Amino acid sequence: MKAKNVLLTVFLISIFLTVYSSNDLEEVFRAHVRVLASDSLQGRGLGTEGTERARDYIAREFAQAGLRAMPGIEGGYLQSFSFRQRLAWIPGTNIVGYVEGSDPVLKNEYIVLGAHYDHLGFEKDNGEKTIYPGADDNASGVAAIIELGRYFAARPGLLKRSLIIVAFDAEESGLIGSRWFVDNSPVPVENIKLMFSFDMVGMYGANNGVHLRGMGSMENGVETAMHKAAKTGIALRNTGSNIERRTDTAPFGDAGIPAVHVFTGTKSPYHKPEDQYHLLDYVGMVKIHEFMTTFIPELASREQIEPAPALIAHAQVQAGKRLPRLLFGFNLNTGSGFHRYDDEFFRANSLFATSAGFYLQVPVSQLLTLQQEALFDVNGSKIEGGNFRRYSATLPLNLQLGTPRASGNPARVFVFAGPYFRYSFGGTEAGESIDFDLFEQQEWGYSYGLTLEVFMFSIGFTHRRAVTGLFNDSDINVFDSNNYFTLGYRF
Ligand SMILES: [Zn+2]
Repeated sequence: MKAKNVLLTVFLISIFLTVYSSNDLEEVFRAHVRVLASDSLQGRGLGTEGTERARDYIAREFAQAGLRAMPGIEGGYLQSFSFRQRLAWIPGTNIVGYVEGSDPVLKNEYIVLGAHYDHLGFEKDNGEKTIYPGADDNASGVAAIIELGRYFAARPGLLKRSLIIVAFDAEESGLIGSRWFVDNSPVPVENIKLMFSFDMVGMYGANNGVHLRGMGSMENGVETAMHKAAKTGIALRNTGSNIERRTDTAPFGDAGIPAVHVFTGTKSPYHKPEDQYHLLDYVGMVKIHEFMTTFIPELASREQIEPAPALIAHAQVQAGKRLPRLLFGFNLNTGSGFHRYDDEFFRANSLFATSAGFYLQVPVSQLLTLQQEALFDVNGSKIEGGNFRRYSATLPLNLQLGTPRASGNPARVFVFAGPYFRYSFGGTEAGESIDFDLFEQQEWGYSYGLTLEVFMFSIGFTHRRAVTGLFNDSDINVFDSNNYFTLGYRF
């Protein structure tokens, strides 16, 4: 750290400590926002030094607030990830802390209080630097979760469920930090019962109240909120059941978790350089804080938190759109094999053939799947004076094109085609053991076919056709072919 930066940090901390010691919550909020939206943090743009400083500040505040680090996260408070933007890999970091609940059973359920701390950074035009400070969006939300964390960490018996406090990175780039958190949750995702995204909470007065968008995604959530609002005298607006898609609530809602956008509207100079700390309504932030300090204990201690039926339906649709990563199964092919004599007018009589083994499927899209098989294979043909038999390992790689995989229907029909490699390690030729000085051990060919999959079972037809010859001597054009009836089972 450069000496200038050390001085700056000391200066910022001293501003903060001076106002914090006054113990006036309004001034505390003002101090947080002033630091996070200061020019030295340069608009908290993706992967910048300003964002690193914001991260240091938030982590330090989490520690001072008495938040614990999540046991499931290696980096203490820091959950690091990286994501691709155009051609570059960008590092991102969520800052995660928690307050353990007091109930021996319910403490394994969680309420997430989240706020993104990234913003748009700065622009350079002809050497002129324009910083987007993002005071309302979203230094205000970060200030809100720090102080809620501090409040609850200091009152250990108040909550039966546990709280997870997260400052999300990379929200402005498409909710990447929050989606990463849900996909790599330090606790089982089904144990996260409710989520609040504090995103732009600094304009309570101008907005004539605060929105709890998505409150209706929780069973009885609106009633509980209204009841507490009447007691604390806060004005609640928009408590609908639709989960907001433009803030960190969306990934939680997609996972079936009731998720609420705490929001005072786009009253600030939204996504403009003028979104500065002195414009915010800190009295309103205190009002929201006071409401939350009575509302959250009620939620964290009630018997059950359930998603509303519409949210359950939404989550099922989302789950249907998700592609499975890898699928394993078993295939059994039974049918016949024969040899093609390409220089002659005949083909040999066919002989029973079978192969069996495992497959690995990699879904590429709803319609396309790549399948690699590893089969033990018995193949051959009738020849003069008896049978020709080979024992081989066959490795077909096929691309499947079919009906959508994950539309919620249990059946899928697909055609497939692709190359195979076969290695023969033994066999007999009219009763004698095969002489691999005469015959090729390696063979290349291709397969194609049609399959119907229903639940875990599949049934279909497979044709395999060699393109390299049976004999070492390339002047003898004899090729293996197989037709199979294929049965499959997916684990
Ligand atoms: Zn925002």
